[in-house]
Amino acid sequence: MENKTNYFDTIIIGAGPGGIYSAYELVKKDPGRKIAVLEEGGRLEQRKCPIDGVKIKTCQNCKTCSIMSGFGGAGAFSDGKYNITNAFGGTLYEHIGRKKALELMRYVDDINVAHAGTETKLYSTAGSRFKKICMQNKLNLLDASVRHLGTDINYIVLSNLYKELEGKVQFFFHTKVTKILKNDDGYEAFYDGGSVVGAGCIVSVGRSGSKWMEQVCRDLSIKTLSNRVDIGVRVELPAAIFSDLTDQLYESKIVYRTEKFEDQVRTFCMNPNGIVVTENTNGIVTVNGHSFEEADKKTENTNFALLVSKHFTEPFKDSNGYGENIARLSNMLGGGVIVQRFGDLERGRRSNEKRIREGMVRPTLNATPGDLSLVLPKRILDGIIEMIYALDKIAPGTANEDTLLYGVEVKFYNMEVGLDDHLETEYPGLYVIGDGSGVTHSLSHASASGVYVARRILGEE
Ligand SMILES: Cc1cc2nc3c(=O)[nH]c(=O)nc-3n(C[C@H](O)[C@H](O)[C@H](O)COP(=O)(O)OP(=O)(O)OC[C@H]3O[C@@H](n4cnc5c(N)ncnc54)[C@H](O)[C@@H]3O)c2cc1C
Repeated sequence: MENKTNYFDTIIIGAGPGGIYSAYELVKKDPGRKIAVLEEGGRLEQRKCPIDGVKIKTCQNCKTCSIMSGFGGAGAFSDGKYNITNAFGGTLYEHIGRKKALELMRYVDDINVAHAGTETKLYSTAGSRFKKICMQNKLNLLDASVRHLGTDINYIVLSNLYKELEGKVQFFFHTKVTKILKNDDGYEAFYDGGSVVGAGCIVSVGRSGSKWMEQVCRDLSIKTLSNRVDIGVRVELPAAIFSDLTDQLYESKIVYRTEKFEDQVRTFCMNPNGIVVTENTNGIVTVNGHSFEEADKKTENTNFALLVSKHFTEPFKDSNGYGENIARLSNMLGGGVIVQRFGDLERGRRSNEKRIREGMVRPTLNATPGDLSLVLPKRILDGIIEMIYALDKIAPGTANEDTLLYGVEVKFYNMEVGLDDHLETEYPGLYVIGDGSGVTHSLSHASASGVYVARRILGEE
């Protein structure tokens, strides 16, 4: 068996942060190990989204999305915010313990810094005066340290990691795994035109591989759980209003418990001096945000999402479908994303071009002025409005009439794969890590899960 060219000690499916860090740790600790990494997308330098903002302005629905797939995974062109915390970004700690999870996130941070991140900044909420101010206003500022690599440095770190792995790991790019089968030698991963066999297998297929992951679980009768979706809006306001927070913390995760329904509303993905962008997932257009390190790309606005978590109980199971349908409603009314002034929302009237134009906040996204109250369920909208007023107490001006709300923003969650405390399925040697497992939702947690499983395979955990 060992002589066969398609036989490996470990096969890794997916070259996002989870896959990269499991390969990195295995190579570092056991250089003789035969490892294959199979990735649906291309090498880092081959990843090019056709949208250039000039000739091509909208998503072309490429067969493989260069933003989500390829070496570096979904995070390759992200702002590269590595949050070192158990308070958000996933529930890895529920499997491996809080102390271990933090230790591994710090370990990943050290590696990132060593691979070109030395000049980047680590922000922290520890000892921040905002913690108390938030508490006094019924807001909970979650504890975290965040390493902000920024889009450009994040790319260089990934290139350097690739150079280190190249030659030690066999990469199969443009190779979408279609099926995994358990056989006497381990696990066989099939792709168009061939297969590889691994004594052990790590599946790290992220959000883009979620549907396929569900299929794998069905094929192998692995238990799954799912029932959460986060729905809300993206808020855009003058950067000066949030500058006290963003200058000190860069990204602050603030949670508010609504008085009316006792729902949790939270800030998510804060982009100081950034832009609001659209995202196309399977033809459904939602909103997101970006920020840049380069001074010439910075805008005068800050944007962040306000999301309400919806957990469903039996018999309803399709939480992602619920989120998709709300997004479809905004697409139906606005042809894409809808934008509304906070003042118009409060008055119960739609925004129009004139009202937006006359407002103080210049929108960074060309969205359709409309009425979000015709799209978002009352309970969700009420929660968002309550939180905007709560935020206004710590960052006065948040509840200004001209503050812009874009909708809808949806954060889909992968179903959670039935795993033990070591992220192993009921099949010995078959591990599922990163966002594809439903356990993690962030760069740092996904990367840490990769290191953990590598060490587990090597008998260290
Ligand atoms: C625009 C954007 C910005 C973001 N910004 C941040 C941020 O600043 N901070 C943060 O913490 N998180 C951020 N995230 C989320 C973060 O990128 C993910 O949490 C993280 O990448 C998850 O890592 P992963 O390895 O689990 O999965 P992914 O990064 O999704 O990688 C999975 C890989 O598996 C491949 N794959 C899927 N199916 C198959 C298959 N069948 N066969 C072979 N290969 C397959 C995919 O092509 C992909 O490359 C952002 C995400 C996006 C989209």
